Amino acid sequence: MKRPQLSVVVPCYNEEACLDMLHGRVSAAARAAVGESYEIVFVNDGSRDRSWEVMQRLSAADPHLVAINLSRNHGHQLALTAGLDLCAGEQILIIDADLQDPPELLTEMRETMAAQGADVVYAVRRKREGESLFKKATAAIFYRMLDRITDTPIPLDTGDFRLMSRRALDALLSLPEQARFIRGMVAWIGFRQVPFVYDRHERHAGETKYPLGKMIRFALDAITGFSTAPLRFASHVGLLLTAASVLLILYILIAWAMGHAIQGWTSTMLVVVILGAVQMFVLGMIGEYLGRLYVESKRRPLYLIADVAGPVQAHASLGY
Ligand code: UDP
Ligand code: MG
Repeated sequence: MKRPQLSVVVPCYNEEACLDMLHGRVSAAARAAVGESYEIVFVNDGSRDRSWEVMQRLSAADPHLVAINLSRNHGHQLALTAGLDLCAGEQILIIDADLQDPPELLTEMRETMAAQGADVVYAVRRKREGESLFKKATAAIFYRMLDRITDTPIPLDTGDFRLMSRRALDALLSLPEQARFIRGMVAWIGFRQVPFVYDRHERHAGETKYPLGKMIRFALDAITGFSTAPLRFASHVGLLLTAASVLLILYILIAWAMGHAIQGWTSTMLVVVILGAVQMFVLGMIGEYLGRLYVESKRRPLYLIADVAGPVQAHASLGY
């Protein structure tokens, strides 16, 4: 198979208002960088708007565009995985559909890659425009906390916007896990990875597809996928409580020996409540890991594809 020089992979969920503009700007940036030797892969992640219709229309008019329609909403990271699995390029650019990450940076990112002999050029956000204070604050705290508890150094303030070489992508795709935190998995594979600083723009249209619930899940996937610190924490808490209870037992025995056997209600209740809370918390943490272990053990496919629109090679490689 002859590979195009560049693949641009875009996961899309309810992005109908962004797709035309996105397609235009990505095409122009790709053409400026590599001429005609590029492909664009749009992944429709079970959108409820007209994203898929727009993709079909665009791909009918542009032989560079492959559009994949997943069978339902599989989530950002799995939609991205579907696009990465399918794309064929020598270099791969991952970018969001909402144009928060300017595609025009492609040329500079390629230059950085060539100049530094890197396999991954990851884009680090210097500024984030048009995002809520809450989002910026939670993201800042999250990346710093993650950095402290993981063994893999995951770059701070870095999303999935990045340029990768084919060998880095193949390495990434060899990781089989269901709970995918792709920016961490890329950090894990190693090779030479260099940062590229940029200012993140406002969304072109629509609103964030990451409400609080999804953000929490994403964060939990990141933590459980890259650290066992919470489990270690659980055993440390257990150890501490054991030590405390030994002291308490001694105290009770001494009090009993001295004839003050019946003590107040407050201390008893405190111990019961604190122990109960700590136990539930620790159990919950263990449960997070256990649940993921269970999901992984089912070995289900990461995503299912319903339709493909675009070049014939894409159909062939998917077995259609
Ligand atoms: N996305 C997706 N599936 C989802 C949620 C999001 O494919 O279930 C895509 C979305 O269309 C966008 C990217 O993931 O291209 C990042 O989402 P968004 O821009 O809403 O996140 P934010 O920038 O607000 O963190
Ligand atoms: Mg966005």
